[in-house]
Amino acid sequence: PGTQLPYDPEKKTIVILGSGWGATSLLKTLDTSEYNVVIISPKNYFLFTPLLPSVAVGTLSPKAILQPTRYLARHKARVVTVIEAEAKEIDPFNKTVTFEDDTEIKGEVSHTTIPYDYLVHAVGAEVQTFGIPGVQEKACFMKELGDAEIVRVHIHRLLIFQAYNNDDNVDAKTIVVGIESAAFPGQDDTEIDRLLHIVIVGGGPTGIEVSGEIHDFLEDDLKAWYPELAGRIRISLVEALPSVLPMFSKQLIEYTESTFKESKIEILTKTMVKEVKDRSVVLQMPDKSIQEVPCGMVVWAGGNKGRKITQDLMAKYPSAQTNRRGLTVDDHLRLAGVNGSIFAIGDCTSTSYAPTAQVASQQGAYLARVFAQMAKKNTLEAKLTQLEHYETTVTDAVEKTNLNSEIETTRKLISNVKVRPFHYSHQGSLAYIGSDKAIADLPFANGNIASAGVATFLFWRSAYLSTLFSLRNRTLVANDWLITKIFGRDLSRD
Ligand code: FAD
Ligand code: NAD
Repeated sequence: PGTQLPYDPEKKTIVILGSGWGATSLLKTLDTSEYNVVIISPKNYFLFTPLLPSVAVGTLSPKAILQPTRYLARHKARVVTVIEAEAKEIDPFNKTVTFEDDTEIKGEVSHTTIPYDYLVHAVGAEVQTFGIPGVQEKACFMKELGDAEIVRVHIHRLLIFQAYNNDDNVDAKTIVVGIESAAFPGQDDTEIDRLLHIVIVGGGPTGIEVSGEIHDFLEDDLKAWYPELAGRIRISLVEALPSVLPMFSKQLIEYTESTFKESKIEILTKTMVKEVKDRSVVLQMPDKSIQEVPCGMVVWAGGNKGRKITQDLMAKYPSAQTNRRGLTVDDHLRLAGVNGSIFAIGDCTSTSYAPTAQVASQQGAYLARVFAQMAKKNTLEAKLTQLEHYETTVTDAVEKTNLNSEIETTRKLISNVKVRPFHYSHQGSLAYIGSDKAIADLPFANGNIASAGVATFLFWRSAYLSTLFSLRNRTLVANDWLITKIFGRDLSRD
């Protein structure tokens, strides 16, 4: 391993865009001995998203949930080329992809185009803001590692406004929850209440988990550090639909609502955020009245939207790609409208499955099997061509009979190479809701089993611990959990 050249002109080239759930699962399962494999992603690591909200409050350190893509790539049978760059354009007609190094310390060459035989589009999605004024500029997100860092900085440093002006990462966000600001001598009561009001938008699993994690942080750590202010901190969760967590069963929704009530997290359903301002959010209430609610911080978890590279690709196939939610693929995950050279997996697609890590990783593993089957078929077809050619040159009757029988066997073997359609196997839905409680909808033979509470939280932890891709990450996460349990969250960073 690691000694052969990365490029072999005899082999077909697979270019994988992305290093998230879909791409990483594909890379992990793929037999790279049959292909040249190139992986292109602006992030040179895999991010374990289910534990991202824990990073936002300092329960886990960022490195615990990251796995550098090269760690995985270097253990493959043949060298995998890992390129840290953002794909800018796909030309499906000439089968090329153009990518760019967008980082500040880029070298003289930072933009190039390479050819592919097969392209795997696994670029995920970005945050859906619906163009609502102020969301992009003033709210925090919970999608990338940088988002969790921003939330953590906001909550941790909780500093007076000017401190942010020196920080590239956060200077765009002017809304700051300011516990230090609230504690600033002479701050008046109304201003303290505003600074200590955290609004989370979106009652999907992301919004619920972020609310739960922030609540734990306030309850477990900040109470001890800021006893005079802790009781005044408020968390509100705003959801436009009639209920939070529509993908969970009714009893788990009710359980979450009652846990949030006990935790003093206010859930506002049928309420829509219309604007995010510097010091408030504008809400459309269930009776359609408009209210401006003062707050110190907004975390936006309003769902997914296709990335530009995905929208551009769709625009190249206007008659086949008509679903605005994402790329349309067939049941073999081949991009509709293209002749089998582009596959798409994960959140960038629009299928009957929810955009989850579970789906993306199963699709990645499935594609690895598809590529293995295709390689097998290619090898047999090459052998058949050789045999057929040789057969025309043979005159000896016995040898001819033997050759014909081998040709027949090879043909049979080729027709036996079948690529089955993708089949998703749902392992259940899990979410952390704070206060050491989790909810789980687990599929069993005769329907779902719903479970909730502290035991489910332990199950949640062990399920995610075992899902982490490497022993290194498992060790780091388990270690951080232990440190947090013993010493509390680290308030000293930044
Ligand atoms: P991603 O994992 O987002 O990966 C996309 C990759 O593409 C990234 O590496 C990105 O850097 C790269 N990329 C972006 N643009 C380009 C470009 N132009 N060129 C090349 N590469 C590019 N799902 C669950 O099933 N269970 C959970 O518990 C769960 N928890 C979650 C918690 C949070 C906070 C979030 C945000 C999501 C959670 N999800 C969960 C959903 C899950 O993370 C996604 O469904 C999953 O990440 C989708 O995988 P993907 O490979 O399609 O995209
Ligand atoms: P989501 O799409 O599930 O939820 C977003 C919510 O925001 C929606 O309920 C929507 O009604 C609400 N919303 C949007 N605009 C609004 C507005 N202006 N005002 C008020 N509410 C508004 O998004 P998500 O929670 O980020 O989840 C994305 C995907 O990732 C889903 O498929 C989810 O299942 C998956 N995920 C799973 C887990 C888990 O399994 N534990 C955790 C996180 C995410």
